[in-house]
Amino acid sequence: MSKTDWIKQEIENLKTQGFYNRIRTIGSPQGAWLVVDGKKVLNFCSNNYLGLANHPKLVAAAKKAVDELGIGPAAVRSIAGTMSLHVELERRLAAFKGVEASITFQSGFTANLATIPALVGKEDVIFSDRLNHASIIDGCRLSGAKIIAYEHCDPASLEAAIKENLSQYRRALVVTDGVFSMDGDVAPLDKVYEVASRFDLLLMVDDAHGEGVLGKGGRGIVDHFGLHGKVDVEVGTLSKAFGVVGGVVAGSPVVVEWLRQRGRPFLFSSAVTVPDAAACIAALDILEASTELVDKLWDNAKYFKAEMKKLGFDTGLSTTPITPIMLGEAPLAQQFSRELFENGVFAMAIGYPTVPQGKARIRVMISAAHAKDDLDKGLEVFKKVGEKLGVIQ
Ligand SMILES: *Cc1c(COP(=O)(O)O)cnc(C)c1O
Repeated sequence: MSKTDWIKQEIENLKTQGFYNRIRTIGSPQGAWLVVDGKKVLNFCSNNYLGLANHPKLVAAAKKAVDELGIGPAAVRSIAGTMSLHVELERRLAAFKGVEASITFQSGFTANLATIPALVGKEDVIFSDRLNHASIIDGCRLSGAKIIAYEHCDPASLEAAIKENLSQYRRALVVTDGVFSMDGDVAPLDKVYEVASRFDLLLMVDDAHGEGVLGKGGRGIVDHFGLHGKVDVEVGTLSKAFGVVGGVVAGSPVVVEWLRQRGRPFLFSSAVTVPDAAACIAALDILEASTELVDKLWDNAKYFKAEMKKLGFDTGLSTTPITPIMLGEAPLAQQFSRELFENGVFAMAIGYPTVPQGKARIRVMISAAHAKDDLDKGLEVFKKVGEKLGVIQ
């Protein structure tokens, strides 16, 4: 027996249960079409909502910054790794989002790991939407606070949980995803705010799938609900609609200042590189200049969803460009995804345990990078595979 045999056994278990991740390799720039494992396919998988991941302006800004400032920050932010571009990016993000301050992180994931433990600890309680993202769950666990899950997108359940538990704790944090990535539904942030503010609780939203998507010109969920100045912490990512990599916390100056002092991934891990920061600033230039890409994203999403419904597909609860095609059992979703791929369309099957049993689906990610012809090609293949597998008539 070797001491790693148990790992081999666990991997075998994943394979027999159908949970083993086979990771595909992309051999082209991100865009409407990809070369995946050597085959050219229509891309319905990536979070590149606005097509910025390979935008010429971002590419040019990154190249120029590398020529001027090199690549790496060479130290953590608090020692010698805060470069002028990081400060400029934070100033520009705050202005874009209409808040007083922002702080950036290596990713949306680390933004959550930094923020939650800085705000609550062992004597405190967190009220967390049952379907929150893994990085929120991990941030909650790291904080040591008591975690109480309330029912998904249900302000009444949140209120009941607060009433029952609040008095036993020192402080409380309410935390929710903005857009939920598997169903494409949007948290009722106005109502969640109404409940949190009645009890005077800290409120945090992770708007990873709403940044660059929701609100005026992609300013996010707080803008979408007109809650400016009311949400204490708005987490976002620069790796989805922004097309680069990084995370951001936007909100009140005192929270941002506290995260500079106590956000552990900020203090103990280096920041994004020079080309990343420069490309993010170029993305902001594009978003501030025009709402064209965000409008195109929504036009594409509405068109695709309406046509899928006409074909007889069930697109679930989505009100955003995330479009689940509900299929039921996991083997059917996996077979559907394989048939799509054989017909030149790359779209992921998602099953248990990522979504509940019996709610397996294909998840289509719509982008402004798609031309109408691309969407029509996708619809044609969905029709063909849906008929073949008996999902539609
Ligand atoms: C994708 C996602 C993240 C992680 O963002 P990265 O920048 O890729 O680390 C965090 N939270 C939510 C809700 C997400 O959907």
